[in-house]
Amino acid sequence: MSLTLYNDLTHKKEPFVPLRPGHVSFYSCGPTVYDFFHIGNARPFIVFDVLRRYLEHLGYKVTFVQNFTDIDDKMIQRAHAEGVEVSDLAARFIAEYFKDADALGIRRADVAPLATEHMPEIIETIEKIIARGHAYVSDGDVYFDVWSWPGYGRLCRQGLDELEAGARVEVGERKKDPLDFALWKAQKPGEPAWDSPWGKGRPGWHIECSAMSSKYLGTTIDIHSGGVDLTFPHHENEIAQSEAASGTGEPFVRFWLHNGFLLIDKEKMSKSLGNFMTARAARQKYPPLAIRLFMLSAHYRSPINFAPEGLEQAERGVARLRNCRSDLAFARRTRLDEGADAGAFLAELEKLDADFHAAMDDDFNTAAAVGVLFEVVKAINTRLKDCPTLPAAFFEAAEAELAKIDDILGVIGPEELPKEEGPEDPDGIGDAEVERLIAERNAARKAKDFARSDAIRDQLAERGVVLEDTPQGTRWKREM
Ligand code: AMP
Ligand code: ZN
Repeated sequence: MSLTLYNDLTHKKEPFVPLRPGHVSFYSCGPTVYDFFHIGNARPFIVFDVLRRYLEHLGYKVTFVQNFTDIDDKMIQRAHAEGVEVSDLAARFIAEYFKDADALGIRRADVAPLATEHMPEIIETIEKIIARGHAYVSDGDVYFDVWSWPGYGRLCRQGLDELEAGARVEVGERKKDPLDFALWKAQKPGEPAWDSPWGKGRPGWHIECSAMSSKYLGTTIDIHSGGVDLTFPHHENEIAQSEAASGTGEPFVRFWLHNGFLLIDKEKMSKSLGNFMTARAARQKYPPLAIRLFMLSAHYRSPINFAPEGLEQAERGVARLRNCRSDLAFARRTRLDEGADAGAFLAELEKLDADFHAAMDDDFNTAAAVGVLFEVVKAINTRLKDCPTLPAAFFEAAEAELAKIDDILGVIGPEELPKEEGPEDPDGIGDAEVERLIAERNAARKAKDFARSDAIRDQLAERGVVLEDTPQGTRWKREM
């Protein structure tokens, strides 16, 4: 099997082969940094992070670019409302983005460019589009002329006439056609502005992605991703701009990938509907690993409903995964025996490993891949339960498989979770504190102070930690 991806340009799954052997260029549309991002925005960040990790696992060198939109109407309005500079607002929410994204295990992009730091590239791209006859200047604005671009509507699969029927004509617009879109907007009073050949102004929303992707990844890139709401007009416009500017006749993007919506009460979660939960609030309520597992338990193109039951189920799932790994470590310390036979287990694991790859190769079907991960856990747990002793080969294979899958999905996490990553639970207790209390309890038992040792056991039980005294020592688990 080899990786296939569903390409929104062709509406079918296609074998993924990068343009440059061994190297993948990948651009993902990033957030507009006027506020905290919500848990719906987190979906593309998480799922495409997993695709990037899987591509790396397959041996590709991936250059991953994700922009920050730091100048647009929303940025200007929010900065005005808060009485701050647009650039200060952007700096604040870029820092907040990284706090949430890092906590959610989203690896940082190789390049995270800002629109405002790419004005020369943006202006140069617009100049090329004008020079090739696909844009016009109108009163200090510059518009893309959609009728001059024969392929317009290819991605969203609508012809210009159909699109025209749904387009609104705004009063006072300086464009020739309602579908024409702004590449450059003349400065309005009180707005930040940059010098350009057309006077002072700022870029339209779409152009930054065309300018920055070609700067960092070249004029034809392998993968471009974002939420399904970006298909039209954002991505349709990016194609028109990029291909008009490059003039190579080559496609701007080879594979277009869009994630489905995260819904809340059957509606798209969005800032404008006011039905959103920020990623910050979500990770105070649920462990970040559970949020990841929840997102990855659905196929990225299907809608997913954000509901407490789903998150709680994911939380139990994460506990099951983490307990399996710590049970393995404990059994390795206490039940290792070279005489035991791991043959059947190794064969089962090999099959499960192939299933995992088959799932990921099938349009990175993380829902199926997560299913396989739990099969792996079941196979491990069965041996841990049934076999009095186990050989090194069993432990090595089991640990390596969990580590490998986790390197891609990121749902088991490090052995010791950073304190600030845990949910905001007043009864919550960190691993180090549990270990400390167990050591104290062991000392109390040795000194025959059973009142103290029982009190510690009860105290831990109240905080969701169960102890088990075995001939090999005390084990602990978080209650599921
Ligand atoms: P924005 O900051 O609005 O440009 O959004 C950042 C990313 O989140 C884009 O890829 C959007 O398509 C995506 N997005 C926004 N809302 C949702 C949602 N409810 N579910 C999934 N993706 C979303
Ligand atoms: Zn974009």
